[in-house]
Amino acid sequence: MADTLITSEVNLDALGGQTGFLRVPHSVTRSAYGWLPVPISVVNNGKGPTVLLMAGNHGDEYEGQIAIARLCRDLTPDQIQGRIILLPQANAPAAQAGTRTSPIDNGNLNRTFPGDPKGTPTEMIAHYIEEVLLPLCDYAVDLHSGGASLFYPPTLLRNQGHTPEAAAALEQLETAFDLPYAWVFQGGGGPGSTARTALGAANRKGVICVMAELGGAGAVDRDILAQTERGLKRVLHSLGLLPGYAPDAVRGTRRAATKGSVYAYDTGLFEPFKDIGEDVTVGEIVGLIHLVDTPWCGPIPVHSPYDGFVLCNRPLAQVQRGDALFQVADDVA
Ligand SMILES: [Zn+2]
Repeated sequence: MADTLITSEVNLDALGGQTGFLRVPHSVTRSAYGWLPVPISVVNNGKGPTVLLMAGNHGDEYEGQIAIARLCRDLTPDQIQGRIILLPQANAPAAQAGTRTSPIDNGNLNRTFPGDPKGTPTEMIAHYIEEVLLPLCDYAVDLHSGGASLFYPPTLLRNQGHTPEAAAALEQLETAFDLPYAWVFQGGGGPGSTARTALGAANRKGVICVMAELGGAGAVDRDILAQTERGLKRVLHSLGLLPGYAPDAVRGTRRAATKGSVYAYDTGLFEPFKDIGEDVTVGEIVGLIHLVDTPWCGPIPVHSPYDGFVLCNRPLAQVQRGDALFQVADDVA
């Protein structure tokens, strides 16, 4: 057993369905012997792969949290073949606050792996996922969105795979999830990964892992939630974990690689000229930053440094220097 101070109320090796909390020790004035609750469910039935489904890695990203919480209630052992570990609020303090980072230690879980077993609560959670949960798993799915400050259409994220087998497995998950877009990272994502993300952790443990960006802007989109729930069931079915599910026809995925973000260099109110999916060219004006506190000064045009199409945008009007306004991607084979 890995060196951890976190204790689990569920026995991950037992057959059947269980729910409970990971107890992250947290000794403070109002609760000297207290712990922070991270909800966890496990459904385990016989032979088959183990998959970790997680959301709430960033606390202001909601569709995945709802979809996985629903699976916690709906999945029964008799429906599945294998083991599913469900972590709907991975950084629970952040998720409960509705913030990207934890209000307890300011920790950004997806920048904290491999974590620290004796560190802050966020560091302890990262370490637990990497050293206790992922070594049990064959596959992992980490659900995100653009959070409070960005909006993504449903987009699967994955590495190319460091072996032919890994590449085939990642393509299988992409096809099964069947989201409108897939963002394929450069590089294989093998065990040498030094990334501080959950995906990096999965790569280090030899776990086939995909992420998804599912909406954002601090809201829940009905259609994106439906696509999330459909995609998760399709993924489980394609891995043999949900044999009774009957997937509908594949809708198809536009596969892209990102080129970079368009940033604000001024402070003001941003008027976008582009929607998600629209083409942009190098030098094209993609919006205006209005300096409304000195309204007699004209707005500042924002130029795209890239050719491609808009994959994600910033849905907030107020911008300041350094804020990403758009992410530009381009098609890949
Ligand atoms: Zn995120």
